[in-house]
Amino acid sequence: MEYKALIGLEMHCEISKTNTKVFSSAENSYKETPNTNIRPVDMAFPGTLPVVNKEAVKKALMASMILNCKQPEYMYFERKNYYYPDLPKGFQITQETKPAPVGIYGQLEYECNGEIKIAKINNIHLEEDAASSDHYSSYSTIDYNRAGVPLLELVTEPIFHSADEAVAFLETMRSIYQYTDISEADSKKGQIRCDVNVSIMDASLDETDPKNWGTKIEIKNVNSFGGVRDAINYEIKRQTEAKMDGTYDSMEQQTRRFDEESGTTIYMRSKVDAIDYKYFIEPNIPKFKLTEEFLDSIRKSIPLLAREKKEKYISEYGLSNYDATILVKERSISEYFDAIVEQNVDPKISSNWVTSVILGYLNKNSLEINEIFVTPKMLAELINLVSSGKISIKQGKEVLFDSLEKNIEPKKIVEEKGISQIGNEDEIRKIVISVLDNNQDNIEKYKSGRTNVLDYLVGQVMKETRGKANPAITRKLMQEEIERR
Ligand code: ADP
Ligand code: MG
Repeated sequence: MEYKALIGLEMHCEISKTNTKVFSSAENSYKETPNTNIRPVDMAFPGTLPVVNKEAVKKALMASMILNCKQPEYMYFERKNYYYPDLPKGFQITQETKPAPVGIYGQLEYECNGEIKIAKINNIHLEEDAASSDHYSSYSTIDYNRAGVPLLELVTEPIFHSADEAVAFLETMRSIYQYTDISEADSKKGQIRCDVNVSIMDASLDETDPKNWGTKIEIKNVNSFGGVRDAINYEIKRQTEAKMDGTYDSMEQQTRRFDEESGTTIYMRSKVDAIDYKYFIEPNIPKFKLTEEFLDSIRKSIPLLAREKKEKYISEYGLSNYDATILVKERSISEYFDAIVEQNVDPKISSNWVTSVILGYLNKNSLEINEIFVTPKMLAELINLVSSGKISIKQGKEVLFDSLEKNIEPKKIVEEKGISQIGNEDEIRKIVISVLDNNQDNIEKYKSGRTNVLDYLVGQVMKETRGKANPAITRKLMQEEIERR
């Protein structure tokens, strides 16, 4: 029998771009010293009260709008009650689907292997992050700096069928969070964490009917997209094997964890051990109305997202789909590119320099674009030196690498090293004539139809000028002069 996988994601992303935490005035930042960035309310000291961060609410609502969700008329928060050392209050302030979180029932188009697909969103809600803990062989440490950092939890329907689809969706979301300034969405900083739900069902049955779904297996807290991919593939294989050997039907709904080292998932607990969180409306935060005006102002402030930017690059700038895709993948790279174009440099030429030279350099040295010395303005100046014929492309590339390596402005390198290209026709013509004077035999070959000797003759001029002659001009003059003889 054929089986297909159903995958539903719960993606947590910290809202990293607010000044303060979601219910307190502590900074929203990763202070280096643990436990120095805490307010009494983060620890639920008696008598303290939470104050909702408007900026966090705006960002959460913006995400809800981009996901085409329905926004609530009133904002509520709820308490999720449980005890764990990383949760000093004994409860997390969150939003369950009742009465209504910042967004319900949305959908988002995303691209997977060149195909446009639709992800269905169950809900997105705003909550507070817990503290972070580290476990060692005989003790654990805990850092409350993270307690109360605003967190968005996005819950999809079980709409994905493969690791490729799930990861493509997560990458789209990361890009949206970055382009909207909701979050840096940096997995390395632990800002993104996913719970992955996987089941398999008979491929011939109707997947829109939940009756046909298999047993949901939840894999908690997968911290990288690579981990999500491996966890899904492992689960599909494990569950398919269980179907084959007849043990699938006795499998209970369960929570597992992903073990990065072995690339496998490990049993943690079954549904019967599930905690009852005793949700109730957070009494210390009165509900408040979201006016149409407030929602409209958020809607109007949604910036261009990667997909829209890509369309602009293709239709306005004439870039290829391939190049445009590369340029918009990271917001910082598209902004670097935009800044070069703003200096009146031709977009296609700018794109070539960025996608081939700059991105190549970043990849090779594992750097981010904001870590390199060459600014868009410097690169624009260098590109102009090439376009105006003052230096050749080859020279330009060498200067750029030099500049990246030595942290010296490209313009300065060109000046100091006296790098220049001979673009003056009279000057080049003189050399062309002298080369031809010494190449009578090649002129004869050319006349007899072996026109490829032209390359050799142009090469001779290059040799004479140590690569400084403008190749296009040299070629044109060489042809002119040889025809004349
Ligand atoms: P719970 O009430 O246990 O939190 P939900 O029904 O709210 O479960 O779903 C949580 C996540 O699990 C969602 O992302 C959803 O898409 C996914 N999910 C639910 N049922 C299945 C299933 N049979 N297979 C795969 N994923 C599922
Ligand atoms: Mg949650």
